[in-house]
This record gives sequence, structure tokens and C-alpha cells, in this order.
Amino acid sequence: MRLEREDGAVGWGEVAPLPWFGTETVVEAEEACRALGDRPDESALAAVPERLSCVRFALAAARAEVAGAVPLVSTKRLAVAALLPAGRAALDVLGARLESGFLSFKWKVGVGRPEEEWGVLDDLLASLPTSAKLRLDANGAWSRRDAGRWLERCAERPVEFVEQPVAPEAVDDLLKLATDFPVKLALDESVATLASARAWHERGWGGVFVLKPALAGPLEVLLDWVRVAQVDVVFSSAMESVLARRQIVRAVLAAGVTRRALGFGVGPVFGARELDGPEIGPLMDGDWAASFNPEAQWTACN
Ligand code: MG
Repeated sequence: MRLEREDGAVGWGEVAPLPWFGTETVVEAEEACRALGDRPDESALAAVPERLSCVRFALAAARAEVAGAVPLVSTKRLAVAALLPAGRAALDVLGARLESGFLSFKWKVGVGRPEEEWGVLDDLLASLPTSAKLRLDANGAWSRRDAGRWLERCAERPVEFVEQPVAPEAVDDLLKLATDFPVKLALDESVATLASARAWHERGWGGVFVLKPALAGPLEVLLDWVRVAQVDVVFSSAMESVLARRQIVRAVLAAGVTRRALGFGVGPVFGARELDGPEIGPLMDGDWAASFNPEAQWTACN
């Protein structure tokens, strides 16, 4: 999205929906943008419905750029969690990532049989230096019973947190698991929108919130909520390109609201450097993709 003010100031936004994660579809987003027309006024921009969270994220980012309200490059840095593939393959990838300097990892679980994955978990933990952290992500795949068995095991092991142990619909199970086991739990699929994150906060959720800013509406609103509610958060990527990712990283670092490793270590999403941006290493700072030129991406996409 390209927004130009009458005086020529330009701002950029990216609409990157993920409908299976609860956002609008690309078609809905396109319709909403078309409805804004070529010369939208303030009231039209403000009237985009809350449900269109990806369009609202892009609009807010573009407007912030037009207004010059973009945080200055921050000197702060945050670690990045490298994603490990499911199953035994995680062990092969782990060595290479450690060598690149990563010290924070996320492993996908709930893919194979628990007994098999438990063996891999212990091998992974044995291969990690003590300063490294491992988080597990079940993507809601476990039954209530499997989640209990897993969390019992994790209780005796140095696991940073377990993400989305059961499906988002299983609200009571999630609350019960969080109180029954000492392991820190994180919500991801459960908190796809800011409204759902707020609802979980009101329920008293004391675990981690994994937030994907590109899907969650205006970035500043999201960061304000995190600041005021003082929630424990992990900021994570969705399917956005370097354009939105750079805006997110800068704002998140400037806000200084978390010390947890960023969930941006997924590797290239598009397989094209002009869309993925520079390779993401074990640490991210506000200078990431400093040479990125949105105008060039815009021209390439049109
Ligand atoms: Mg997840």
C-alpha cells in the first residue's frame, strides 16, 4: 500500500493476510482498499472495520511513515529464535544454527508419536549449551491427555515455554493446563487478533502471548496494549515481506517491551531476496534491512 499526502510525503504499508489464522482474505482486503478509492480522507481511513486487521496494520504503518512518526533506528537488539523442523531432522539443523550463533530455538512438536519426540527432546537438550533456550510449539495438535503427559515431562526440563499445547477452542483446557503444570505456556493461534489477546488477558492468562503484528491491526495500538497491560510477549513473523517486517522490528525494538527472542527465525518465506530482505541472523537490530527501498519493491510488484 502506497499512501501519498498532498505535499508529496509518501508512506508504505503491507497487507499480508493469513485467513487460516483468522484474518481477512486477500479478496476482502483488496475490496476494502478499492473502496477507499484513490483519494481517501481521514474519516474513510479511520472507518476501515476492525475485522480487517491486516489492512488496518498496513494503513497505520503507511500513515505513520507519511507523518514522519517512525521510530528512529534503535541501538537495542533482540535475539532471534531459529525454527527447528519436526522430528529427528531438528538435530541435524540444530548443529548448523548453533554454528551460526543462534542461542534460541523453537521446535515443532505434536507431529510424531510423543514417545519418539521425547527421545528427540532429550537429545536436543543434551546438544544445547547451557546459555541456549528451547521453546516447543505444538500448534494446538495435542489432545488434553497428550498435553498433560508432555507438560509433565517438560516440568523437569529446561524448556523456555510450550506454545499452543491444545487447540484454541479448548479454552478451559488451556487454563487448566496452565495451572496444573509449572511449565510456562504460550498462546499463539489463540491470540491471532488483538481482541482475542485482550480477552485472554482479561481471563487472567499469566503465560506468554505470541503476537504476529502484521495480523494484529495498527502496530502502535498493539504496542500500547503490551506496554499498559504489561504482558509477557514474543513478537513473531507471519507471511509478511521485508517491507512490513522492517517496520515491525524497528517499532518493537524502540518500544522495548520484551526481552524474549523474536520469532522471526523462519528462514526465507518467498525465496526472493527483494521480498525476504537480508538473511536474519541470531541477533536483530533496528538496522536490519537498512538499505531496503520500498519504492523499488512497489515498482517490481506492479
Ligand atoms: Mg506457533
